[in-house]
Amino acid sequence: MKMPQQGRDWDELRAEMIARGGGDVDWRSGKTAVYVFNAGEDIHHVQHEAYGMFMAENGLGPLAFPSLAQMEKEVIGMALGLLHAPEGAAGAMTSGGTDSITMALKTARDFARANAKPLTDHNIVLPRSAHLAFDKAAHLMDIAVRRVPLKGDGSYEADAGAMAEAVDASTIMMVGSAPNFPHGIIDPIAALGDVAAAKGVWLHVDACVGGYFAPFARMNGVAVPDFDFAVPAVHSMSADLHKYGYCAKGASTVLFRSEALYKHMPFSMRDWSGAPMKTPTLAGTRPGGAISAAWAVMNVLGVDGYREKQGLVCATREKIEAGVKALGFEVLGRPLLGLIAFRHPEAETLALYAAMRARGWFTSFTAEPASLHLMLSPKHAEVADAYLADLAAALVDVKAGVKAEKVEARYS
Ligand SMILES: *Cc1c(COP(=O)(O)O)cnc(C)c1O
Repeated sequence: MKMPQQGRDWDELRAEMIARGGGDVDWRSGKTAVYVFNAGEDIHHVQHEAYGMFMAENGLGPLAFPSLAQMEKEVIGMALGLLHAPEGAAGAMTSGGTDSITMALKTARDFARANAKPLTDHNIVLPRSAHLAFDKAAHLMDIAVRRVPLKGDGSYEADAGAMAEAVDASTIMMVGSAPNFPHGIIDPIAALGDVAAAKGVWLHVDACVGGYFAPFARMNGVAVPDFDFAVPAVHSMSADLHKYGYCAKGASTVLFRSEALYKHMPFSMRDWSGAPMKTPTLAGTRPGGAISAAWAVMNVLGVDGYREKQGLVCATREKIEAGVKALGFEVLGRPLLGLIAFRHPEAETLALYAAMRARGWFTSFTAEPASLHLMLSPKHAEVADAYLADLAAALVDVKAGVKAEKVEARYS
């Protein structure tokens, strides 16, 4: 496209944009279970209005915008409180999980350099199921990645003993997920903590998708094992607001057990032509709207609001779990939160995936082992029955060898 010489009419452009959106997945109806966390119209409205209020403001300038500085501080305070951080813990908002993980790794690297670890040739030790954001961050920083197979017992949990064997003097971080993305399973963080403490290694818990879910599930009576700063060896955590925090996109948190760890994160410099600058995270300019929308949604929901939403998601997951098992599917491990993966012994996963796409469902899939994958939102409570009915029909078709229209797996 070439830039139009003369600007175009906004009303006309708006109509065109709405039309373009019409070609996207219909997430508003609840038939999408990846990418979007749909907590309903009222929350969407709060996100939208609160984002717009501070859309022009810049979190880079806390002196100019004490409003944003205060909101970020309060968001971090709420996060640390939910995740059992001790007095003196610290953190910052970032643009997303990848950003939070990158900053946590950078902080662990600089902490290691300051604390008698070798200066280069670092490695990190993580389970096979940990998010690829760690590989991306490690790639940026020339850090080696040691991925360790999961326990072979069908639990899809990290294997603490095998991870211990992969740690050496150059290991600057161990990782556990709460939960992992592929299977939705919470790693045994306490066991990983024992290894990390014994080896003197930084333990990061990636709670990107569970950090704002697991605390409320536990309050609702779900037997969630210790996964946060309650485990003493946990040095840092990543937790995404724009997932189960139901905040507008561009909002995550990276958290540290103490100010002494946190202080290795910010970057400051005065030796250039411009004014001296200090930035806490990777970003320079920081969108005010992502901060204000997060602050607003967290306050509008409160503990009771989150408990209600996450209770609904857990109930939906249980219903789908029971429904797919009744159809002969195997559910991977024991999911406790909003993610679930399942496979059928007699039906090929990608064929099922395609048959469900043909019926209007846009979900995800897991590669190891090949399974269908759902990331459930409150909205899915309304469509769980329809999903199960379509899955039953898709299973019949796939078993009978009916080919769904070829589905492009471009999104994966
Ligand atoms: C989503 C996710 C990430 C990455 O977060 P983005 O916001 O997509 O960058 C990292 N870890 C886990 C477990 C996730 O679910």
